[in-house]
Amino acid sequence: MPRCLPAAFALYLLGATYAFAADPPDRLLDEAAALRDAALAESDAWRHAWSLTTEVGPRLAGSAGDRAAVAWALANLVDLGFDDVRPQTVMVPAWERGHAEVRITQPFPQPLVAVSLGMTVGTPDAGIEAPVIRFESLAELEAATPNDVRGHIVFIDERMARTRDGSGYGPAVQKRSRGPSIASERGAVAMVIRSVGTSGDRLPHTGATRFADGVRPIAAFALAGPDADMLSHQLGTGRDVQLLVRSTARSLPPARSANVIADIRGADRPDEIVILAAHLDSWDLGTGATDNAAGVAILMEAARLIATMQRRPSRTIRLVLYANEEAGLDGSRAYTAEALESEERHVVGIEADAGAGFIYQFNSGVGAEALPIVAAMRRVLAPLGIEGGDNSATGGADLSTLRATGMPVLMMEHDRSRYFDWHHTANDTLDKIDPAALAQAVAAYAAVVWMAANIEDDFGEFPAPVAKPADPGESSG
Ligand SMILES: [Zn+2]
Repeated sequence: MPRCLPAAFALYLLGATYAFAADPPDRLLDEAAALRDAALAESDAWRHAWSLTTEVGPRLAGSAGDRAAVAWALANLVDLGFDDVRPQTVMVPAWERGHAEVRITQPFPQPLVAVSLGMTVGTPDAGIEAPVIRFESLAELEAATPNDVRGHIVFIDERMARTRDGSGYGPAVQKRSRGPSIASERGAVAMVIRSVGTSGDRLPHTGATRFADGVRPIAAFALAGPDADMLSHQLGTGRDVQLLVRSTARSLPPARSANVIADIRGADRPDEIVILAAHLDSWDLGTGATDNAAGVAILMEAARLIATMQRRPSRTIRLVLYANEEAGLDGSRAYTAEALESEERHVVGIEADAGAGFIYQFNSGVGAEALPIVAAMRRVLAPLGIEGGDNSATGGADLSTLRATGMPVLMMEHDRSRYFDWHHTANDTLDKIDPAALAQAVAAYAAVVWMAANIEDDFGEFPAPVAKPADPGESSG
């Protein structure tokens, strides 16, 4: 990343000579605390989440719902007091779910509740019927040979751990994102997995899968937890188990979507960007309430409150509602490619894509010289019940492409104990959002963003080693 382009750097020095040096840090802390308290007292965040889930609903990248979401964001952000609102066109791969059917045909015929994994191919009209081979884990499938797997429908029965920090998701999602490709390489004719997630309901979890170059795509499905249990029980009888799978899923030609970008222009250092990130797209089974109308609503409202402050921030605060996080990070890549061409400098980023649970911890991934700033932020967050964490934050999926250029990140840890009961399922609906938790989040993000956009100092570089950009859908968002 051209972090010190001559023009941007000169502007930074110029700004630094007069911008904020005269203001004591106490005043900034007081402003942030006042913003925090105002956000707690009155927040429109739930209203934004209501609007996006009710008036737009499911918004799978490249679908009509996705286009409606872009139009919704452009119209709503203009009303919120931003200085500049604009779309950035992004082409995205489009996909149609169609109809999925999975049934046990032997030894005890029963239908199973299943959905196609995102971006998968369909089957012939008659479906595919084949014997099932079960693996405890993706690692066990990786260790299998084509002799074991060929001609079978692979079943990975791995469970996901429920944790407050959502750390069970990263390992569990591998069977979804990479499993079908690995199964196909070994000659599988189709694949089913136990849903990634922690729900015991018969509501399967979708999400993207991806085939390695040169690997033949196969139809792949997620079974609801109790249906994975059923398949396991029948396999446990020791008899051969046969599945019939059928799907009309298919890819469509690439479609036009957009990142929606909205700026509160910095009064002193307009080319220094504090970026607020959330993805606008969602999976199609629910209304994308916790993933990620919540994140969109939190950041929209934080920015709206900041825009009502008596003065403009020193740096530019930029909200980016990203296109197609779920199935390719296309919006993230497009935004960062253009950012690298500009003379703007992305000083620090914060992403909201971890549901709508109460925030319990604030972490950073900043240069060591910026840790005193983080400590000051923690003092402002403490009355919200948010504790300090550490400097190992990596941000979310959409910021991963900027982070890979060295941009430091700040991160709110939302309680995700229940998030993966609903995530990517038909159950991801507005009733899962607690307005009080949303208000706490707005207060936290607004206070921290205001400080980041006004503080005299920099946040350094993202601490080495710089992680590679996330694979789509592999972060907890
Ligand atoms: Zn998400």
